[in-house]
Amino acid sequence: MTKANVAPVTGRSPDALAAVEAEIARACRDAQRDRASVTLIAVSKTFAADAIIPVIAAGQRVFGENRVQEAKAKWPALTSAYPDVALHLIGPLQSNKAKEAVALFDAIHSVDRPSICQALAKEIESQNRHPQLFVQINTGEEPQKAGIAPGEADAFIASCRDTYGLTISGLMCIPPVDEPPAAHFALTAKIAARNGLTNLSMGMSADFATAIMLGATHVRVGSAIFGHR
Ligand SMILES: *Cc1c(COP(=O)(O)O)cnc(C)c1O
Repeated sequence: MTKANVAPVTGRSPDALAAVEAEIARACRDAQRDRASVTLIAVSKTFAADAIIPVIAAGQRVFGENRVQEAKAKWPALTSAYPDVALHLIGPLQSNKAKEAVALFDAIHSVDRPSICQALAKEIESQNRHPQLFVQINTGEEPQKAGIAPGEADAFIASCRDTYGLTISGLMCIPPVDEPPAAHFALTAKIAARNGLTNLSMGMSADFATAIMLGATHVRVGSAIFGHR
């Protein structure tokens, strides 16, 4: 037996995308979930158009970026060439970038403080664009990490709705790098359930199958598709 024809699990290629797709399909079968209940976000941060185009050509239609400026520099040309591509902001957002973020992104995964809520509400109204919004939960309560502390999540989600009139569609988390992620995914799912939120943005290259077992509806996968950054 030779392994020559086996698709690599990492690397910048349509084969890597196919390997991730196969792993998502397997995780959905294991969890007795419909494949259509999980959206794969291909995280293309740091990669240029020449690396992204083959992944679009292979059929991927949802991409993630973590910086507004980087996305603004590389995506308008790509989305005009491929109008059915959706773009998700997965990184921290500053209030002074809210205007550009609402104009550019179809989803924002990093809603995590009142000033952002206020800036988003203003831009959503004036641009009449309605990106899907996720509140980021800092499940590990890490001081250097963005997100709302779990104990403050219910009140924050309520204030997004009641004070700012925002429609929150789900929650996002990034577990601490040095801990098993499952407890963080489960906590995020629990906070979402008690707040009536159905979407869960959780799971990256190393742990998206675990996240799917625990209810992820959006997995954010970068290096397993594009290779190392
Ligand atoms: C970079 C990034 C990812 C993707 O990470 P990989 O380990 O490369 O899959 C997912 N989520 C966020 C918020 C990121 O910044």
